[in-house]
Amino acid sequence: MRRKFIVGNWKMHGLREGGTALASDLAGRMLGAGDVAFDMLLCPPATLIHTVVQAVSDAPVSVGGQDCHGKDSGAHTGDIGAPMLADAGCRYVIVGHSERRQGHGEQSVEVRAKAAAAHRAGLIAIVCVGETEAERDAGRAMDVIARMVDDSMPEGATAANTVVAYEPVWAIGTGRTPTPRDVAAMHSMIRGRLATLVDQPDAVRILYGGSVKPDNAASLLHIDDVDGALVGGASLKADEFWAIAETC
Ligand code: 13P
Repeated sequence: MRRKFIVGNWKMHGLREGGTALASDLAGRMLGAGDVAFDMLLCPPATLIHTVVQAVSDAPVSVGGQDCHGKDSGAHTGDIGAPMLADAGCRYVIVGHSERRQGHGEQSVEVRAKAAAAHRAGLIAIVCVGETEAERDAGRAMDVIARMVDDSMPEGATAANTVVAYEPVWAIGTGRTPTPRDVAAMHSMIRGRLATLVDQPDAVRILYGGSVKPDNAASLLHIDDVDGALVGGASLKADEFWAIAETC
């Protein structure tokens, strides 16, 4: 049985005071709630990782990075190596987010190298894939995602070291989401694809991301093969993020 996984991607938001307050608030809710039906992960900007790790240290809340380099170290100004994230207290790292693919020209081959670097550092990679609106309108969404999954998954990926996140680019930050039927079809296709790439494909968690809010979370999170949510905007408000998690 796959446990639901609720992930907050804070993107480039948050200074120390607000970030600490948000993480502490969520840590307190997790501690107060006792037995919950989901795991929680927070991915703050790199500058807040240390602070957030401290803020959630007593609670069942994990911390992750938003990106890492494909090499462990080297002359790469401004980049962060996966061993650095692990050293800072991260257990996870997001790789291949569409904002990296589009804003920084990252190709699947690099995403794959980043996921492999995460594994070498003992981190769990959250590998993101997503089609553009033009690709969906052209009826190519399934093909595009199949290809992205094939090309982005590193050798040695397992259910224990890899999570997949399906985030349609056109649904991110727009308030629009695919229909539950489209999400179900895509997640089922991704799981089928994983069968050729990882051992125990049925154990891999596949998250949905893109405009997940408290009012649509239940309908998205209870679709077959949807094992959780990768949440952007709504993860910046404790009430909203918690309301999403509580629909699990
Ligand atoms: P929004 O939830 O703001 O649409 O962002 C989704 C996302 O990109 C999470 O990684």
